[in-house]
Amino acid sequence: MSDKPEKFIDENGLRLDGRRVDEIRPMTVEMGVLSRADGSCYLEWGNNKVLAAVYGPRELHPRRLQRPSEALVRYRYNMAAFSVEDRIRPGPSRRSTEISKVSGEAFEPVVMKQFYPGAVIDVFAEVLQADAGTRTAAINAATLALVDAGIPMKGLVASCAVGKVDGQLVLDLNKPEDNYGDADLPIAMTEDGEITLLQMDGNLTADEIAKGIEMARKGCEQIFAIQKEALLSKFGTTDEEELLKEAELQAEVATSEDETEDVEVVSEVVSEVALEDEDDELKDEVDEDLELQDEGEAFTDDEVEDTSDEAEDLFGEDVSEFEINEGTESEGDSSSEPEGAESDEDEGEKNE
Ligand code: ADP
Repeated sequence: MSDKPEKFIDENGLRLDGRRVDEIRPMTVEMGVLSRADGSCYLEWGNNKVLAAVYGPRELHPRRLQRPSEALVRYRYNMAAFSVEDRIRPGPSRRSTEISKVSGEAFEPVVMKQFYPGAVIDVFAEVLQADAGTRTAAINAATLALVDAGIPMKGLVASCAVGKVDGQLVLDLNKPEDNYGDADLPIAMTEDGEITLLQMDGNLTADEIAKGIEMARKGCEQIFAIQKEALLSKFGTTDEEELLKEAELQAEVATSEDETEDVEVVSEVVSEVALEDEDDELKDEVDEDLELQDEGEAFTDDEVEDTSDEAEDLFGEDVSEFEINEGTESEGDSSSEPEGAESDEDEGEKNE
């Protein structure tokens, strides 16, 4: 480990790595890097390299761990043995257990767990190369992996730390600042500024904490921008109008092509809907007609009606009767579980 530097900030206000006090390290992200996970993200932040993978929602085993009204979100932070200069002993440590717990809780207000009662959403954050700020880097990667997995979320979560060196607050600590600085204040927050993680190491006054939080807020705004850019490049657009047009186009294709062979009468009615789309009352009537004519062959309610109905309604009360996720089979059939998923027994052992 390098020695403590004499000064962390030079006369020009620049830090050892050339950053200003309120600047974060360069961050790059890539989503969907793991084909066997439901969602994934590889993130580099300065010299940190982190991989996040999400599995689920899938039915949780053993069943006694299931929550009747929501999904369980499990977050596992792990540092690879080769991620630091001296090899880290593999397996959970007190530090990684603590980080896993608080990081999972950082997603509490955004993940819409109520849609998947009885299910589990597993988030794995693997630190491949560590250089200070790994828990914050892992949270930033995990957010995108969750989105990549299609988990319904109210918004994104971003995280960065603030610290104190040479009597000054600095954003996003580098390694020497983390090792030898006076304080380390990792923070995570939602897009609307709700703080979901706040830890502190070292000493800061109340005033410094308040200023530090504001500084972290600015850092998180930069990170949200990077995350959104990644989402744009993967999913094309976040523009509401374009998304709406796309949805309308898909609805038109569905109504004009669907089920024509099976029920001609129904197709005619659907064309009427396309022509007189503006007329809500007529739409209701048509929906009723469709229901009357639907013998369960060509149309189901789900196909005709808005597919954005809450998943809660779809899953009903007895979620165990339903497949939680594509490819997730009923209990006992482990053949379709994503690779890397443990069997009941394995999982039981691991949890102990
Ligand atoms: P964070 O990585 O979230 O800042 P810490 O403040 O605990 O978490 O750690 C700071 C840095 O110290 C880590 O990023 C890593 O580079 C290094 N570090 C942490 N734990 C170990 C360890 N067990 N062995 C060697 N280096 C470690």
